[in-house]
Amino acid sequence: NEFEDYFLKRELLMGIYEKGFEKPSPIQEESIPIALTGSDILARAKNGTGKTAAFCIPALEKIDQDNNVIQVVILVPTRELALQTSQVCKELGKHLNIEVMVTTGGTSLKDDIMRLYQPVHLLVGTPGRILDLAKKGICNLQNCAMLVMDEADKLLSPEFQPSIEHLISFLPTNRQILMFSATFPVTVKDFKDRYLQKPYVINL
Ligand code: AMP
Repeated sequence: NEFEDYFLKRELLMGIYEKGFEKPSPIQEESIPIALTGSDILARAKNGTGKTAAFCIPALEKIDQDNNVIQVVILVPTRELALQTSQVCKELGKHLNIEVMVTTGGTSLKDDIMRLYQPVHLLVGTPGRILDLAKKGICNLQNCAMLVMDEADKLLSPEFQPSIEHLISFLPTNRQILMFSATFPVTVKDFKDRYLQKPYVINL
């Protein structure tokens, strides 16, 4: 397989090649075409397999950069991972005009409010803060067609799970959910059964 096989936007393909990716990794080969069809995905993938690009590439492909609304939310369990993931999105999307915002607990809510006056297409962050912004009506998730949950096993810890379920209530009903997890504990299976629609399961 080649990245050309996915008929991606030329600007995105340029970002992929400039990052030095020559061919899709196995997780990317499985997830990119399926994610582009709009299907939900539950993927078992360890760190270091290329899983970040496996969800960032379809996310960047699907965003309409002329529509200044939040179209993708990527949930991660830590601020560090949020910053790393947003960096990957910015690099892969270097030739696109896609606005990426990072938001996590422990930072200024006022700064987030100010930032949200400007266009944001893709929001990366931790569940509590994003839920807070949604509940306050500061960020509108009604046009968010894709939710990514990275490190889903960690996201579904008792600390985050209620926030995630509440957050999902702010999304449109026809949203696509992509879940990536190193392990499939019962919390992940249970969440899949309740929220994913006919998910494509990737088990590498
Ligand atoms: P990740 O599993 O997302 O943390 O990615 C692990 C490493 O693999 C990162 O340094 C990526 O930049 C790199 N990587 C991801 N996809 C590819 C690819 N298709 N070809 C070469 N390197 C890649």
